[in-house]
Amino acid sequence: MASLPWLEPSIEQFQRLLQSSRMPHAVLVAVDTGLGARNMLDELAARALCTSLTPLGACGQCKSCQLYRAGNHPDFYPIEADGNQIKVDQIRALTGNLTTTAQQGGKRLATIYGAERMNHAAANALLKTLEEPGENTLILLHTDIPGQLLPTLKSRCQQLKFKAPDEQQINAWLVAQQLTTDAMWALPVAGGPLKLADYLHNNYITVLVQFRVDWLSSLSTGHLCASLRDIGEEQITDALKVLYIVLMDDVKRLSVINGLSAAKVASLSGEIMAVCHTLTTMPSVNYLALCHRIVSTYQRLKAE
Ligand SMILES: [Zn+2]
Repeated sequence: MASLPWLEPSIEQFQRLLQSSRMPHAVLVAVDTGLGARNMLDELAARALCTSLTPLGACGQCKSCQLYRAGNHPDFYPIEADGNQIKVDQIRALTGNLTTTAQQGGKRLATIYGAERMNHAAANALLKTLEEPGENTLILLHTDIPGQLLPTLKSRCQQLKFKAPDEQQINAWLVAQQLTTDAMWALPVAGGPLKLADYLHNNYITVLVQFRVDWLSSLSTGHLCASLRDIGEEQITDALKVLYIVLMDDVKRLSVINGLSAAKVASLSGEIMAVCHTLTTMPSVNYLALCHRIVSTYQRLKAE
């Protein structure tokens, strides 16, 4: 795994908790998935389960470490959404497991990835366990959207401190991975530096660059480029996110010379974001009609 320097302070905080007598029963990990939340949970779980923890982290040698790395530690219970939701049955099964004795003599550990996806019944079922956790039980609750967690759940967890990297740190990280920083413009499409690094590795970035070129051309001529017309369903969201970036660049430029036009283009780009959001739940949005409409609306705004 590539090292993610912005995760380190939180991992160190967790390590200090593990080595102290103040280890809480539940820890909230509010780290964006695009910033390496899965890597973080994996690292925390390895440290929590290791029975000979070193100052640098899990020892990698003990029985617990070996079982964890092999993916069959009997006291480790990872939970994530089954479909769009984490369902009450998943949490009931988990809380049942957490009341049994740890087989390896260490902790029983649960990770709940994307805890904001717990439906109401699931959250309530978990709440009971957080109120009366069994001995030597640790629950790591991860969320991308802390605001969507029940306050009663949040208040029963200790939240790890986390500071998201700024653009400069992400740039430095890409350079350290021997990747070009020319692709920084596509960071919002990727949703984070890890995915952006993937895009550079598998050359998907060239697809995004082409989208950008084609959007600029479509907006200036008023005719939707063929490449944007024949786009595959799986790339629609990315194409629209690129369009959003193109329009927002335009807003920045326009705001210096024409505030009203800038506001209109901004509203158009806001609409695109809303459609992107809808697409995640309703893939049947009429993409082509939308694109034609955006291109012609843009032309009209420019003509005003
Ligand atoms: Zn170990």
